[in-house]
Order: sequence, then structure tokens, then C-alpha cells
Amino acid sequence: MRLRSLALLLAVAAACATPARPPADDTPDVDLTPLRSRLYIAEDRFCVQENSMVYVGDAYVTVIGATWTPDTARQLHARIRAITPLPVRDVILTNYHPDRAGGTAYWLGLGADVLATPRTLRLLELHWDRIVGDVRATYPQYPSLPLARPTRVLPDGFAVQNGAVRTLYLGPSHTDDGLFVYFPEQRVLYGGCILKEQLGNLDSANLSEYPRTLRRLVDLRLPTDVIVSGHWSPVHGTELIDTYLRLLAEHAAAAPR
Ligand SMILES: [Zn+2]
Repeated sequence: MRLRSLALLLAVAAACATPARPPADDTPDVDLTPLRSRLYIAEDRFCVQENSMVYVGDAYVTVIGATWTPDTARQLHARIRAITPLPVRDVILTNYHPDRAGGTAYWLGLGADVLATPRTLRLLELHWDRIVGDVRATYPQYPSLPLARPTRVLPDGFAVQNGAVRTLYLGPSHTDDGLFVYFPEQRVLYGGCILKEQLGNLDSANLSEYPRTLRRLVDLRLPTDVIVSGHWSPVHGTELIDTYLRLLAEHAAAAPR
């Protein structure tokens, strides 16, 4: 096996290394739990656990992360309907990978807007079919989803819900397009795939820029009590940034020169 394909296989395996919960018809993949006032965490355990977020506004709901698949999106929508009658009006894609964008088709079918930056749209168009193939190589149950495009392409730093949900693009990291999402009222930062307790999948990462992007985040000094990670256990303090910087430094130190 060529070195590159081996590296790719290992990276995908790392992305999906945690054994999925055994499938059972009565066991949902998606839970929704309250975090602070209007904010909820969606834990989607399809493939490797990904955590998305839900913000319940005065007039409508914003979902941050489309979840893994249209079916997990449907499950999340059922959880949302149990807590509010308000419609889901927009869904933010925080990067182009299937754990963030896989559920897009469901939300489009619902009539919601799917929001992304031009960078994410371009990467979806360039890489979607390949990256779905990569996931399916490890997780054959992952559906062969065609690309579903965002409906609204917005500039870096776009916000919704009258500024209560703010996206931040601070440079390349886990992917070239990854967004943080900041909730100033709740003093919560969503780290998406960028911040987590394990290194995770670095296949699309920019390893030289990743630490700089995290330092730009620190330099913003956003008033933050909680960081919600996009994978594995969701709730952390701001030390998660240092944790991930350390993991990156250890990874760099171990890499062959
Ligand atoms: Zn991810």
C-alpha cells in the first residue's frame, strides 16, 4: 500500500475510530440536552460521536451543524419539536466534512436555509464525493449521499438571530474553512471540529496554521465560560484550547523530519 493511501486510511480510521453504538431500532443516534438558556447540545452518535448545537430564538430555531446524515438530521428535528413549536429556519455548516454537512438534504427538504461561507461551498464542490467515499470505506453504513448545496453563501463573520449566534473564521485549522460559533449571551463558544479532547482526523488539516488560528482565538479574549467540542465529550472549559494546542505540539514533535 502506498504511503499516502495508508496515511489516508489511518486518518479516516482515526475520524471514525470509536466503535459506534450497536444499531438498535429503538435506540436513537441523536440526543438533545439543554446547556444554557436558549442553547442546546445535540449529541449525534452515528459513526464517531459529533456534537452540534441548537439555538432557540424568539421567532425561529438555528441549528449549528447539519449532523452526519439526513436521518440523524430528522432525529434531531424530532428532538427540537419536543422542546419548541418554532420552525428551524437556518442551519449553519461549520465546515464541508460529512459530520457537519451530511444532513443538509433533510434541512433543505424542510424549507430551511443552509448557510455557509464561499470557502465551504468551494470545498464541498471540490471534495464532497471523495470524502463521502473515504467515510464509507471505514463505515459502509454511511449513505452514498450526493452533494447538497447550501442555499445562502455568506461572508466570513456572518451572524444570525440578531447577533446572538456569531460565526468566526480565524484561518485554516482542522480544515481550511472551519468556523467557530460564538454565543455572546450565554458566554459559550462552539469549537466544532477544531477543538476537541483528542487529535481526531487531521487528513484535511493545515498543521502549520492550526496553532496560529487557535492563538488568534485566544487573542480575541471572548468572554467565555464553556467551550462545546464538536466531537466526543461536548462540555469543556476554556482550557480545551490549551489542551488541543498541546496535542498539536506533541503530534508535530513526533512527526518524522
Ligand atoms: Zn469532525
